[in-house]
Amino acid sequence: MGAIDSHVTDEEIRSALDAAHVPSLLLALVHLTGDLSLIRGDIRPAPEFLSDAQDGVPDEAQARARQLAFDVLVAARDSAQELPGDPDDAALVEMMAYLTGQQVAPEYLEFLTAELAMRGEDAYAQPALESVSRQARQQLKVIIIGAGMSGILTAIRLQEAGIPFEIIEKNADVGGTWYENTYPGCRVDSGNHVYSYSFRPKDWPQYFSSQPVLREYFADAADAYGLREHIRFRTEVLSATLDESHGLWRVSVRDAHGVESELSAHAVVSAVGQLNRPKMPDLPGVGSFVGPCFHSARWQHDVDLSGKRVGVIGTGGSAFQFVPHLAEVAEQVTVFQRTAPWVVLNDQYFAEVPDGVHWLMKHIPFYAKWFRFSVFWKSAEGLLASVTADEGWNRPEESVGEANAVLRQQLLDAMREQLGDDDELMRLCTPDYPPGAKRALIDDGRWFRTLQRENVVLHGDGIESICERGIIDAQGREHHFDVLIYGTGFSASDFLTPMRIHGVGGVELHQQWNGDPRAFKGISFPGFPNLFCCYGPNTNIVVNSSIIFFSECEVRYILGCLAELAARGPGTLMDVRQDVHDAYNERIDAGNAQMAWGQSTVNTWYKNSAGRITQNWPFRLIDFWQQCRQPDVADYRFSRGG
Ligand code: NAP
Repeated sequence: MGAIDSHVTDEEIRSALDAAHVPSLLLALVHLTGDLSLIRGDIRPAPEFLSDAQDGVPDEAQARARQLAFDVLVAARDSAQELPGDPDDAALVEMMAYLTGQQVAPEYLEFLTAELAMRGEDAYAQPALESVSRQARQQLKVIIIGAGMSGILTAIRLQEAGIPFEIIEKNADVGGTWYENTYPGCRVDSGNHVYSYSFRPKDWPQYFSSQPVLREYFADAADAYGLREHIRFRTEVLSATLDESHGLWRVSVRDAHGVESELSAHAVVSAVGQLNRPKMPDLPGVGSFVGPCFHSARWQHDVDLSGKRVGVIGTGGSAFQFVPHLAEVAEQVTVFQRTAPWVVLNDQYFAEVPDGVHWLMKHIPFYAKWFRFSVFWKSAEGLLASVTADEGWNRPEESVGEANAVLRQQLLDAMREQLGDDDELMRLCTPDYPPGAKRALIDDGRWFRTLQRENVVLHGDGIESICERGIIDAQGREHHFDVLIYGTGFSASDFLTPMRIHGVGGVELHQQWNGDPRAFKGISFPGFPNLFCCYGPNTNIVVNSSIIFFSECEVRYILGCLAELAARGPGTLMDVRQDVHDAYNERIDAGNAQMAWGQSTVNTWYKNSAGRITQNWPFRLIDFWQQCRQPDVADYRFSRGG
């Protein structure tokens, strides 16, 4: 069979091409023809942060590209033409430059070919496992804490590696954040074609899918790999204690009946996420409101909100998504904003993926892969320059550099377009910190349209306290509500709480941190051998991309550590060296100091009480990918229990 199915019709091709992302399409044609001249002409993307869905390719050039593609695809179909073979490295570098509109460092080549499995590779496979016998791997036992996105991922990789594992999950089902957050309007804010496991692409129904679709994606992954039989549901980990003499972790758990028991394993992988312990505001009177009252992550679906006066605290990612739905049913919604969010408009945010795009992804080799890379670039590496500080730039309430100032103005212009001549709303919605100092929120303008509704009030004067009937604002005015909803986020910086974790010499991890969580590569903690973490300190993202990318890198690294433990035999302990850990954290701190989130003085949960950024990764994603390829044994001290 040729590269293009001989049964596809001219009409199918034509109508699919109407929906094509033109830059990805032309790159797919290069694979089909081997002809680089297709991307050397004047049909060129010029992607920008706020660029359109076609990345700046003008309409007239799009039409030419579609006609060109039609001719190439029909010819390929009719001649039953095979793919001519992989583009060589030089060609791939040129293709990346074409898509991104800039020279891309050659080091991305390996990343690209692996991440996109351009040549059929498994990007995150851990080669070190191959040198360890299956028997040695089977002697290890690993406990994974959490069956959300990264716990499922860890389990899949351990299963592939033949390493026995058990997952402890506090909820009644898998899915983590996508299981817990059921508030109306909940959907992902990273492009779904990147927000998916590299080895399990999906033909997503929307560019940014809703919570039920994501929950199903992770549940399907768990089912496909038969993971449920390895999971203890409705069981919470209370503590983990290192038994140095046996080279084991003793993990105490409590099941749904309140029965406590102890499990043991050679290694523990924490995959508990960061955003799962709802945080109530530290306001006087919390708890005194007499009506229905709940946190967004514990949405009470049985509370009828129609015709009600509803108070909302918070304008973070969650409130941003549920308030527009609330406004449709409630009589009156008052939103209490402490800090205005930056809003990025994206026309595709609620859009269905058109049939034509589904068709292209299915029928045109490499179209889906280049589209994924385009989403990756535009949401990650391509954004870093605009949130990086320029030396000597000193406008901390506004911007951190020239590119950042341009971005700020673009965002303000877009906001003004949405809010028209409503100067008061414009004032309230304008953040007093640089773009990138907090994660921006994405929609197609729905938030701004909601704020302009008759039944919605955005309140920006602060809250003094919660009272029996509602909220007392900073001016002492009382606002009465029927229902109060907290969109106040999570205890993200209290990593691994409320578990108590005792390592070498009985030291407790949180006491060791003393409010300043740190890790080596976000994964290992000195004094806590064989404890590995997904989504640990300094692995969070501000500019978008996908947290799944980080988890895939982390799990590959952890598999490398486990390969080392298996090779040295059960009972081996590997403990990251303090000096290595400290030097790593110095580098991270220096990196964060250069970024908008490190420079700005705005209050965020990325910082600890001393102002140190404990959450964020400051460098390129390729740097994280590279540092997680496999552990360097020189970074660790090895010992044997007993
Ligand atoms: P969040 O981003 O932490 O936002 C919490 C909001 O509550 C902020 O507006 C905060 O104001 C406000 N707040 C907290 N304490 C307050 C107090 N005492 N008084 C007044 N206001 C208070 O939490 P979230 O919205 O639940 O989002 C959590 C994370 O999940 C974010 O990283 C978000 O990006 C992510 N998320 C992602 C998606 C998605 O993928 N689509 C959806 C939802 C959430 P300040 O800003 O002043 O602190």
